[in-house]
Amino acid sequence: ISTLSTADLKAQFPGLAGGWHYLDTAATAQKPRAVIDATVRAMGADYATVHRGVYARSADMTLAFEAAREKVAALIGAPAPELVFTRGATEAINLVAYTFPNKGRVLLSLLEHHSNIVPWQLAGWQVDVCPLTADGRIDLDAAEAMLTPEHTMVAFAHVSNVLGSVLDAPRAAQLAHRVGAKLLLDGCQAVPRLEVDVAKLGCDFYAFSSHKLYGPTGIGALWGRGDLLDAMPPWQGGGAMIDRASFAGTTYAPPPQRFEAGTPAIVEAIGFGAAADFVRAIGLPAIHAHEAALVRELRAALRARNDVTLFGPEESAGIVSFALDGVHPHDLGTILDEEGVAIRAGHHCAQPLMEHLGVPATARASFGLYSDQGDIAALLRGIERTRRIFG
Ligand code: PMP
Repeated sequence: ISTLSTADLKAQFPGLAGGWHYLDTAATAQKPRAVIDATVRAMGADYATVHRGVYARSADMTLAFEAAREKVAALIGAPAPELVFTRGATEAINLVAYTFPNKGRVLLSLLEHHSNIVPWQLAGWQVDVCPLTADGRIDLDAAEAMLTPEHTMVAFAHVSNVLGSVLDAPRAAQLAHRVGAKLLLDGCQAVPRLEVDVAKLGCDFYAFSSHKLYGPTGIGALWGRGDLLDAMPPWQGGGAMIDRASFAGTTYAPPPQRFEAGTPAIVEAIGFGAAADFVRAIGLPAIHAHEAALVRELRAALRARNDVTLFGPEESAGIVSFALDGVHPHDLGTILDEEGVAIRAGHHCAQPLMEHLGVPATARASFGLYSDQGDIAALLRGIERTRRIFG
């Protein structure tokens, strides 16, 4: 069904050893050897601090750290000086919510992850909520009707972590810009699954996490247009973000350093760069085609059962949410675990969406580049066993 050789790929992931059927990649992706090895080297033989040392090891580490920034930026078609390392997508969105100078109304959608809802609330924005189409995509016709000149920001998921729905980002950008708002995309689930080019998308900010892209936890990125980052004040103060510190008044470094106070996540950044190299070498178009084919196969098999409710659009980027009639998703997840199949059961940090769907939780199977038909077959066997147990 695909051009990816998943047997070869699976062998590169120690976390998948033993034939484990890991279908929770949307929560966090397993790590390939290439990333693990890069991380071990950075924490071992190559380790030193960055940006300050006068000795060769530190200078080399600084080059490796900045090379990682280049790789991660290149993955989304962005210039490296516009890419800020953060702790993850959550921190990236918080950074914009707190420091964007023109806080007004923000238009979110009903399918957002809590990390693209709560920061705006906490930072004092007036929040409006765009509804969804019947098949679970952000309704851009509704967005068009809702947007006003009071909106200074639109913040949408590029790919939904629950439904896999893909946003028509260029249209969203056009609608936002028409009223003078900026568009922030939460790219957590998109960067591992789609070829992303921020210039083509037309967005103004793009947030994502390394750990969903086969890289380490504890690091992510915010891309922002240069002129917008320049206009944003520092967020956290400390070392590495100043131009000159004095009690009379401190001045700040230009972006991205302005937003990177303290010793950065050096090892994690290098692992993030290795992850970007890894997915670029396989190719995002191939990864996308592979996961889309798995989605079609799984949805068809679940639909054929007649006892499964499927959520979300037919065209989904690697994520399938469903309910087995009469069985709580947690019970399904527990039985599947006994079968060596890992899915996610819960609200997926998207409680407003659960309320909209009229369920407390869904079961979610999510694919990665290493997923294959064997994983789907194991899931279907587990569902069948669950049906026999629950009747
Ligand atoms: N947005 C989406 C769509 C996500 O799937 C996630 C992670 N589940 C996040 C944001 C938050 O990412 P992180 O926890 O890595 O900051």
